[in-house]
Amino acid sequence: MSTTVINIDRSAKPASPGAIASRDQLPARDHQRTGCPFHDVRSMLRDVGLRPTRQRLALGWLLFQKGDRHITAEILHDEASKARVPVSLATVYNTLHQFTEVGLLREFAVDGSKTYFDTNVHEHHHYFVEGDNEVLDIPGEVGMARMPEVPEGYEIARVDVIVRLRRKEG
Ligand SMILES: [Zn+2]
Repeated sequence: MSTTVINIDRSAKPASPGAIASRDQLPARDHQRTGCPFHDVRSMLRDVGLRPTRQRLALGWLLFQKGDRHITAEILHDEASKARVPVSLATVYNTLHQFTEVGLLREFAVDGSKTYFDTNVHEHHHYFVEGDNEVLDIPGEVGMARMPEVPEGYEIARVDVIVRLRRKEG
């Protein structure tokens, strides 16, 4: 859906028909931080049944210590290098996918090849700023005029809307 274009009406009233749930309407995050990031990551991993290996702890700490964020494997690998965490890009990829499988992260693609991982796993949608390659959360809800009729035997698992932005000229 990377070419989805939606006109955003900033004055739009909430709870319009067909609106997709926004993070504002959702319960607070499951993982309340206690002030000790390493302890938090360890219990987060335990809660989802992942063994808290040294690499998972280190990458989890890099991922989750800064609040909600969108990150690519390359950026996380770069952060790991700077933090002197010895880990290969392949391991970063594997770990991100493991975290995604157990629901600690949400994965979404922009431009087909660029995969972002989102530490906010609640349903929400994104702006993508062209040129800056920046991903931002859309704070409110996004209205969809009509959902498609899905093929027999399927149901909609999730709707990801990416609204592409570019700077106005002049
Ligand atoms: Zn997000």
